[in-house]
Amino acid sequence: MSCAVCRMAFVPGPQATSPMREHYPPNGVLSPSLYRYYIRAVGVGRPEVQSVKCKYDYVSGNMFAGLMAGMMAVCVTWETPSGLGMTGAPAMMHLACAKMFFHCLDADTDTKERFKRLDEVINFLGRPQGGPNAGWFKDVEYAKVGEGIDLAKFWSPGHTEGGNVFNWQALSKSPYAFLINRPDVFPRFFLEVSAQRTGNLDRDPDSVRSDRITTLPMDVIGYMLPFFDEAVYVKFIATCRFLRFHALTTFQPHARKLVFALGWATPVPAEIDDMEDAQRGSIVDEDTPQTADWLLYLSHVHKTKGMRMRRWIWAQCQEIRRVYERNRETVDPSTLKWLLKDDVDIGFAFELCQMDYISDRKARGKDVPTGRRSKLEGQSTDKVVQALSQMQARTGAKQI
Ligand SMILES: [Zn+2]
Repeated sequence: MSCAVCRMAFVPGPQATSPMREHYPPNGVLSPSLYRYYIRAVGVGRPEVQSVKCKYDYVSGNMFAGLMAGMMAVCVTWETPSGLGMTGAPAMMHLACAKMFFHCLDADTDTKERFKRLDEVINFLGRPQGGPNAGWFKDVEYAKVGEGIDLAKFWSPGHTEGGNVFNWQALSKSPYAFLINRPDVFPRFFLEVSAQRTGNLDRDPDSVRSDRITTLPMDVIGYMLPFFDEAVYVKFIATCRFLRFHALTTFQPHARKLVFALGWATPVPAEIDDMEDAQRGSIVDEDTPQTADWLLYLSHVHKTKGMRMRRWIWAQCQEIRRVYERNRETVDPSTLKWLLKDDVDIGFAFELCQMDYISDRKARGKDVPTGRRSKLEGQSTDKVVQALSQMQARTGAKQI
């Protein structure tokens, strides 16, 4: 079973009752933490709107199982004999892939606008394909972006729907083994520059100002910095002790700009939202002080395998967006099939997502922030399921 963004596989979760043996990676290829990461999925674009936010676990074969709004068990039959057609299953994505995908499509926060946007995704990208390309968006040139990796060669067609098999072993022994990592584990971020980093650079740095550049007034050097991209900047600050000292101190805001300009190097809003408080305190976001060691972080994001994988996934998301925008310009509006037919459906989808967030926070023993309430809170499961059924009847979605 393949992720529509990164095209890597999902692995069977513990609740799988009759899993296919071939869907398990060989022993030793995935650590326990990585294994848990590859179980979890988010579905995008199913007619039943609950999949917009529901987190599923892969249970092998052709099935994903999940719990919606903390109360309703739901499942997805993924591939159909005719591929993943209009009445078929959603595009399934790993959790981190989905969060980056939503961000790249300007749809990462739970608002009513977001649901309209996600509705557009399926209209403009189409349902993912079936067969040997099961799960992948048509027309997206996955292998031509980022590091140009063609993962198709690691997939073998299955004999049944959902039966394609991923060769974890071959990938782990290939030059692309770095893809077997978590793309949502960020390098450590330091709020201060350590004394070890500055060393003796701070001993009278002005004494080494002698050439045409370093003798310029600091204001003038400051004006030059925005014209330096990352590669030029790194070479520039490496030229002398004076510039190295300022790179660790007064130029840190420029390193900060370079970090955010990468896009992929910092958590997207949905990732920050899901972080535990302790983790959130140490990770970069736009509120982090300019005096932190951004230069060190900038260096580290280019060194870890997880960040290399994240950069590659980011490139896939940009490519998907390219096809989405191109099709948006060319698709005849009269042919669009909206899954959410009116504001009532969008409003209900919004409430379901709020409920999902609240139940997830409560399950983790966390407070629910003010403003993240749901009108469904306190209502009985029967009542919510009834409302969901009514919406499914309106949207023409099949019952599950
Ligand atoms: Zn993925």
